Amino acid sequence: MLKVENINVYYGNIQALKGVSLEINQGEIVTLIGANGAGKSTLLKTISGLLKPKTGEVLYEGKSISGKAAQTIVKQGISHVPEGRRIFANMSVIENLELGAFLRKDKIGIREDLEKVFQLFPRLYERKKQSAGTLSGGEQQMLAMGRALMAKPRLLLLDEPSMGLAPLLVKTIFRIIEEISQTGTTILLVEQNANMALSIANRAYVIETGRVVLSGTPDELNESDQVKSAYLGGH
Ligand code: ATP
Repeated sequence: MLKVENINVYYGNIQALKGVSLEINQGEIVTLIGANGAGKSTLLKTISGLLKPKTGEVLYEGKSISGKAAQTIVKQGISHVPEGRRIFANMSVIENLELGAFLRKDKIGIREDLEKVFQLFPRLYERKKQSAGTLSGGEQQMLAMGRALMAKPRLLLLDEPSMGLAPLLVKTIFRIIEEISQTGTTILLVEQNANMALSIANRAYVIETGRVVLSGTPDELNESDQVKSAYLGGH
């Protein structure tokens, strides 16, 4: 479904990604694991069109999307839930969700998807008229995910959905990610919580200082001493 081929991405003179390649198949949950600053968010931004690779290519359904406008990429079916959520605090929950569908014209489909989002996140339904800024951190994460789903993505990019959430909420968010996956949406999940991410992923890539240093199934990575000591608490 998605192929990243040997991309090099820079911020000015700083090279954030160094020859990164990876592949995501239809229906998979793929996770990217790595320390702060490794380049995970940069990779998601490059896929969603917020950054352009200097060299290399991002292929979606066999066609290059590198260099295309972010809006075009959303229309083609890739939605990005950025780190830190970026919801519109002064707008209501429902207005935030409707914004997620702003590129769509199918009014009936939008209604149906709004119902689906409310089924997935009953909390958002209860608070639909409330301004988004009054939601808790976990509810804001749900809203950011719901808003991305309103674009009807085939591939969902999630950047650190568990960040700053209490353990119980982290569990809820991961359960919902699995539910989203079961509806047929492919997922690329960036996480620092490697244990949780590996528990739901089909495959994983480990990124260190801009390079993919390891990849495999969760079982393979759980066996790796390198992964164990750096990302799984050393046990
Ligand atoms: P985090 O979990 O902290 O977001 P990350 O793995 O997602 O980490 P990136 O945010 O992709 O890492 O950052 C990769 C590298 O690029 C880091 O060295 C970072 O300092 C640098 N970087 C990120 N954004 C910018 C920017 N806007 N300008 C300059 N350098 C940047």
